[in-house]
Amino acid sequence: MLYYDLHIHSCLSPCAQDDMTPQNVCGMARLKGLDVIALTDHNSGGNLVAFSKAAWEYGLLFIPGMELCTAEEVHILAYFQNLDDALLASEAVRSHLPKKKNKPDFFGRQLLVDEKDQPCGEEDALLIGALDLSLEETLALIRSCSGIAVPAHVNRGYGMIYTLGFIPQQAGFKVVEQGVGEAPIKGMKCIHNSDAHDLGAISERENALLADDLDGVLTFLREGRTTA
Ligand SMILES: [Zn+2]
Ligand SMILES: [Zn+2]
Repeated sequence: MLYYDLHIHSCLSPCAQDDMTPQNVCGMARLKGLDVIALTDHNSGGNLVAFSKAAWEYGLLFIPGMELCTAEEVHILAYFQNLDDALLASEAVRSHLPKKKNKPDFFGRQLLVDEKDQPCGEEDALLIGALDLSLEETLALIRSCSGIAVPAHVNRGYGMIYTLGFIPQQAGFKVVEQGVGEAPIKGMKCIHNSDAHDLGAISERENALLADDLDGVLTFLREGRTTA
């Protein structure tokens, strides 16, 4: 059994607090008794390397991810089996970002940091906003990097049901992200995450998956079943 929070933003997401750094986030996740976390910044994997090192230091299992915004303005969580796949996907996403520069005073800063929380730059391109990729194209991009796509907060703003009104059958999702207490969706398993933009919001030890290791978690996200 692994306690998880698979939707956390870092200081790279303009809407997240600047203290959402690798040491702070991983330390807090550890304090809260989590076993596995995923970093899912908006449309970028720029802080994944730093977080994967910090997570290792704190003895946390780590899934490199992103939260992509499709042209339909639907948020999709993308999870990868390893850093190389995630960084490949992040690079591919880059050319589909909105052609705008971030305005830090308005949207918030987009901080790149190392694993010791030292700043190493600021992302210039605006990371929030829709990619010029349809839902179908976004899924193809994720899957071309062996990634797993999970619709984010389906019943909230930018969620698939909220925005499109339905979950397309042919998209092949097995798992969706829902709020606690929301009605189950037929044929789908669900995960509950914090979508934390500040340290206090990171999940407590409250949501668990029947898995022994990272492979087990990824198998669940991909297939909606566990091997444990
Ligand atoms: Zn979202
Ligand atoms: Zn989010």
